Amino acid sequence: MLKGKTALVTGSTSGIGLGIARSLAQAGCNLVINGLGNAEEIETIRSELAQSSGVEVLFDGANMMEPEQISHMVERTNQHFGGIDVLVNNAGIQYVSPVEEFPIEKWDAIIAINLSSSFHTIRAAIPSMKKRGFGRIINLASAHALVASPYKSAYVAAKHGLAGLTKTVALEVAENGITVNAVCPGYVLTPLVEKQIPDTAHARGISEEEVVRDVLLAAQSTKQFVTVEQISGLVIFLCSQSAASITGALLPIDGGWTAH
Ligand code: NAD
Repeated sequence: MLKGKTALVTGSTSGIGLGIARSLAQAGCNLVINGLGNAEEIETIRSELAQSSGVEVLFDGANMMEPEQISHMVERTNQHFGGIDVLVNNAGIQYVSPVEEFPIEKWDAIIAINLSSSFHTIRAAIPSMKKRGFGRIINLASAHALVASPYKSAYVAAKHGLAGLTKTVALEVAENGITVNAVCPGYVLTPLVEKQIPDTAHARGISEEEVVRDVLLAAQSTKQFVTVEQISGLVIFLCSQSAASITGALLPIDGGWTAH
């Protein structure tokens, strides 16, 4: 379906981003993957993605806290593949703490990685999308772009900001064949969530089992984690021609969480 197109997925060395990269490769998209981690492990991921799908896959290690590195990554992708058709802004981190104890450097890092990096990729990618008259920008927001939870001030602020960025850019490029949407998952069992279970247990003074049952899945009415495959399926649909009129949308995929 996306044969010959090019996708750039930030934060795609793990979790949801890696799952989305895998689905885009299977749909025929050439890829630039990005993220932090061990160089050998990343090379294994890159070559496995390329071999299993027959597409070209490059890795770019741009740090999403560094605007210059981000715009160079977009430039290199444009030069190598002649443009970006699908931009998935997925890189993200989490930190859980009461606001009065929230470390300032964690606030700054979450705003930079979870919000500002998307501004920088979008800003750099739009001119070539406009020239080609086609683009799909998909921002990995969260149910936390729609509702809040305590102890996640930076994350909730960044994701609400990403929702605003999504709607604004969608309006600006609506006549250029470019759609801009935010996917808003509930809890998915990835390294990002696994890491916050002990921190949440500590912040709330409860056990890790209680965190999963009474905090993470409390509002998720299905009582099931959302899966990476379900999110990838939505992303692939948003890339299709059938989704050409879906733009500026914040799409919950959260087991009923935000229906409350
Ligand atoms: P993850 O920790 O498994 O993956 C995060 C990815 O971002 C990794 O590839 C990591 O290397 C990359 N990354 C982190 N900091 C970076 C930086 N400075 N520069 C470049 N790359 C960086 O997390 P995940 O659960 O797969 O989360 C992916 C996205 O989905 C995030 O934006 C997250 O907020 C969002 N999300 C996750 C959940 C969930 O329950 N897991 C729910 C809703 C939204």
